[in-house]
Amino acid sequence: MPTEVMRVSADDLNQAAFQRAKAVLAVDGLVAFPTETVYGLGANAFSAAAVARIFTAKGRPANNPLIVHVADVAGVERVATEWPANAARLAERFWPGPLTLVLPKRAEVPDAVTGGGPTVAVRVPAHPVALALLRTSGLPLAAPSANRSSQVSPTQAAHVLRSLEGRIDLILDGGPTSGGIESTIIDVTTEPPRLLRPGLITTAQVEAVIGSLERPVTMVKTSAPLPAPGMLERHYAPRAPLECVSEAGMSRAAELCGSGLRVGWVKLAPISVNQETQDQVGRPNQITPLVAGLDAGLNMLVVEMPLDPTAYSAQIYATLHELDDAGVDRILVDWPPETDDWLAVRDRLRRAATQ
Ligand code: AMP
Ligand code: MG
Repeated sequence: MPTEVMRVSADDLNQAAFQRAKAVLAVDGLVAFPTETVYGLGANAFSAAAVARIFTAKGRPANNPLIVHVADVAGVERVATEWPANAARLAERFWPGPLTLVLPKRAEVPDAVTGGGPTVAVRVPAHPVALALLRTSGLPLAAPSANRSSQVSPTQAAHVLRSLEGRIDLILDGGPTSGGIESTIIDVTTEPPRLLRPGLITTAQVEAVIGSLERPVTMVKTSAPLPAPGMLERHYAPRAPLECVSEAGMSRAAELCGSGLRVGWVKLAPISVNQETQDQVGRPNQITPLVAGLDAGLNMLVVEMPLDPTAYSAQIYATLHELDDAGVDRILVDWPPETDDWLAVRDRLRRAATQ
């Protein structure tokens, strides 16, 4: 099927594009749309047939559940049976925003959405285009990232098109996303609540509202850039093999270049933070990652990344897409600081480096 791309803007939400999207969703079609994290691939969360098409389009394993997006807190009731006190506190503080809550599911939610499990993951996104789509369609939308399974998530409509052209019906192009990496996921059905995935909202922000979280072993601090092989699923990965480097970035880059490989080095640089990227309400990201320097002697591209987790998150996926476009053979990434505010970035880099 040909994939249609329609431009949308936050200033003019009464556009034909939203009516078109509503019509596509009503017949179990797939619509990619921007959120404040990455582009999502949306389908009617109540339709098992529509949700099945998401898994086919992405090549996603059936046991990997989807996040359901709703327009507001009232919308949660349509998909979940309980609203624990911790959920109410977190929603009050962080919704709309990049925080996903795992709740007991309603029977009306197809098993395909939840991987057959008894819980459903829900969030209210902060992007005006996502909210307008949810309101216009009147549906909860199951929406994973709009890319083939295990690839780098899309932060621009062009990334979606490249990954899923011909496999989905419509892309709403609302420009680059501002957050850059995925939402934080908290299971609020347990006591203490559990961190299932670190994301744009930091664990410190969550813990300030509901107290200590239980964390999976794979997220405890480690000074090694990589966990034992096989501990993590490969995910968020560029085409070129990615390697994390602790300090010896330059010598490793030189070594790889010396063996004839073209290297992209994602380097941490203490540059000032652009205010726009601090913004989590979905305005377009003002930083365009640029391939900053081509060392004449070495076959190497260097991208300087901000030494700030929020600004870094906003750029990392676009940077990996850009290095793949540039045709590098290997990507080196400086390992970020071992502090909690970098937890989500370290998680994504670890998975991207998993072979
Ligand atoms: P993606 O949409 O690709 O960002 O991935 C969504 C992630 O949400 C999945 O990889 C799951 O780990 C997580 N998730 C979704 N639903 C649930 C659930 N009911 N319980 C636990 N984790 C979930
Ligand atoms: Mg994904």
